[in-house]
Amino acid sequence: MSTVLVVNSGSSSLKYQLIEMSTESVLASGLIERIGQPGEVRDHAAAFQSMIDTFEEKGPSLTENPPVAIGHRVVHGGKRFFGPTVVTDLVKINIEDLSDLAPLHNPANLQGINAAQKVFPDIPQVAVFDTAFHATLSPAAYTYAIDAELADKYRIRRYGFHGTSHKFVSEATAEFLGRSLDSLKTIVLHLGNGASACAVDGGVSIDTSMGLTPVEGLVMGTRSGDIDPAVLIHLHRKGKLDFDDLDELLNRKSGLLGLSGRGDMRDVVGAAGDGDEAAQLALDVYLHRLKHYVGAYSAELGGVDAIVFTAGVGENSAPVRAGALAGLERLGISVDPALNEADDRGRRRISPEGSPVEVLVIPTNEELEIARQCLTVV
Ligand code: AMP
Repeated sequence: MSTVLVVNSGSSSLKYQLIEMSTESVLASGLIERIGQPGEVRDHAAAFQSMIDTFEEKGPSLTENPPVAIGHRVVHGGKRFFGPTVVTDLVKINIEDLSDLAPLHNPANLQGINAAQKVFPDIPQVAVFDTAFHATLSPAAYTYAIDAELADKYRIRRYGFHGTSHKFVSEATAEFLGRSLDSLKTIVLHLGNGASACAVDGGVSIDTSMGLTPVEGLVMGTRSGDIDPAVLIHLHRKGKLDFDDLDELLNRKSGLLGLSGRGDMRDVVGAAGDGDEAAQLALDVYLHRLKHYVGAYSAELGGVDAIVFTAGVGENSAPVRAGALAGLERLGISVDPALNEADDRGRRRISPEGSPVEVLVIPTNEELEIARQCLTVV
């Protein structure tokens, strides 16, 4: 039995999955929350030990059947990492060094790696970066039009995120359609709590909606997505908001929550249906932005074969899928209402039979993608 343990350590949580690789089946999974809070698990090392204890108690034992690799989700790989990477001391220094670009994520990811190394010093630890799939963006796509020297000094460019998901879903799309990945032009819409769009040409990311940080692009649960940067200057000068206020505003008080008081798409759709005007506006802005990116990426790709919805909202919300693509028939894009609304969970087509552009729902699986990538380097 050959297994990979996948670890996703956030600032206060540790999520894990043990995957058996010959069948790609999940043997065990779990979530440890509230790390570092009073009366709870002390730190990531303690959380990792508590995970090991659970395995010893409930099986399968990790000490008797050690995984061939431990795969770690790492959010920011900057310009340095463009594929799965076996962790060395130098790799850890680089992840640490990138923390100023992802202050909430990289330090937590590193703590997960350190905790795993302590318990399993002989098992290869592999870092899989959220940014890696977008390393193929062209300079035209990743460069912000600001002073070039300043941008260089502070490593300011677009990096993109959700890469593990975009890669998994674009490959699954080729598989589902029985087409070769090389010739497929796909727009992946990863719509979860965070949300991003990605234009994938022949398996290669050519553009994505998140940028230097995961704030840019689509409207999200609590993040603004695209905004005129001068709004922030205006709020600083006139509204006396300082930089922490602006950070809080863009990351935690904007998006669906800022517009409607509700950060969960289920609540927004429900309230809009009940006639709540703020919720309706939040939904309209969300859909308008999505459609904007579908149009932009259709142009960048020079035509599109498949548009694919994934993650919490994309997999579950028929009104969002229908609304995002409404009125695009002249671009060959349409959604069949019965297929879209069918109570189905798996990979599925929701465009009418014979439609020029395939519209699909493909559940993402970032853990499996991380595990697969681990096997390519150990
Ligand atoms: P994720 O980040 O992929 O786990 O997605 C989480 C988000 O999916 C939640 O914040 C919900 O807003 C959204 N979600 C889950 N189920 C539904 C649903 N049935 N309709 C609309 N949104 C949903």
